[in-house]
Amino acid sequence: MVSLGCPKALVDSERILTALRGDGYAMSADYAGADVVIVNTCGFLDSAKAESLEAIGEAIAENGRVVVTGCLGVEAERIRERFPAVLAITGPQQYEAVVGAVRDAAPMPPQPFVDLAPTKLTPRHYSYLKISEGCNHRCAFCIIPSLRGDLASRRPDAILREAEKLVAAGTRELLVISQDTSAYGRDLRHADYNGRRAHITDLARDLGSLGAWVRLHYVYPYASVDELIPLMADGLILPYLDIPFQHAAPGVLRAMRRPANEARVLERLAAWRAAVPDIAIRSTFIVGFPGESETDFAYLLQWLEEAQLDRVGAFAYENVAGAAANDLPGHVPEEEKQERLARFMETSARISAAKLAAKVGRRIDVIIDEADGEGGATGRGQADAPEIDGQVFLRDCHAAPGDIVRVVVEDADEHDLYGVPV
Ligand code: SF4
Repeated sequence: MVSLGCPKALVDSERILTALRGDGYAMSADYAGADVVIVNTCGFLDSAKAESLEAIGEAIAENGRVVVTGCLGVEAERIRERFPAVLAITGPQQYEAVVGAVRDAAPMPPQPFVDLAPTKLTPRHYSYLKISEGCNHRCAFCIIPSLRGDLASRRPDAILREAEKLVAAGTRELLVISQDTSAYGRDLRHADYNGRRAHITDLARDLGSLGAWVRLHYVYPYASVDELIPLMADGLILPYLDIPFQHAAPGVLRAMRRPANEARVLERLAAWRAAVPDIAIRSTFIVGFPGESETDFAYLLQWLEEAQLDRVGAFAYENVAGAAANDLPGHVPEEEKQERLARFMETSARISAAKLAAKVGRRIDVIIDEADGEGGATGRGQADAPEIDGQVFLRDCHAAPGDIVRVVVEDADEHDLYGVPV
């Protein structure tokens, strides 16, 4: 399995592997040992598509028997044209079709004893928990709704069952993902399933009772998000919100067709911080969106100074085949996009460095990701999600991955902290 793309695609890969393990298949660590290679592709940005095509080419060259799935799978003709030897192509979430293609390519005699435990591609101590598929919005730069369809929430009782199993198997941190986490359950009319209401507040509370850290990603600041703040104050879920703002200038947000695009975000951030002083707000931004003027960009920088976000990622706008934004007027020249991106990153790094410096001398909880057995360890605080946020580098630490240890912060730089257990 070659798994590319976002955590949502990673969860798809885990589901496919779990189903195949149920048939008796095993994972190979290299191309040479595999009877068939599954390439789970990403089709979001042109750069991601290019990477996916490269991965398919490599799998064909190294192994020759290749099944393609994932977001780029919707462009089957393009893949076939370039790689006629591909055995089968399926789109995102077509688990059954992928499993069927593997069965055809490498038939497996019936196995009487198979391992039915879920397959995870993340370390044992943290797990992504996908609560819904698809999205009801139509942001101008995004083709996810056309790839993955409208919002389709999973039943809350099924999500909880999965979470309980993960925690029982050693997960200490649940990373809740979807395209629009705060919209969870709208398509189910927030109905009750075996005593569990399909609503993000109820789901977050129930997940918070399992004893693992619960981290919410892709939350839009709808009014209902205010209900999540007391759960953070009570320690049920992590004081962390990943809100993809993408921009701040009203005209650009309108052109982007962003959901929950309202002017009072700064006031709400202040209210959330008053209720939960340690809350970490993470976000992503697009600079150089078509029509973004220098005034719009200056507004964004000023907004960033006021918002004082804890973690920020940014991209220079890129056309995505099939996205409405491609046809908007006022595309920003590449050089200017890059120049704005550099200014944006400079501002956000300065804010991040000051926020992290303020943590020096404080005590924080850290979940250990890696330990070298000689006292060196790497972990993350409650403000840091794996892969996308910062890390905490520890000395004199003899804890194991998955342990949660109390640490005093000794030093900080732009993105990371340094400390020692107390
Ligand atoms: S909210 Fe917008 S950017 Fe996010 S998945 Fe939906 S359409 Fe795409």
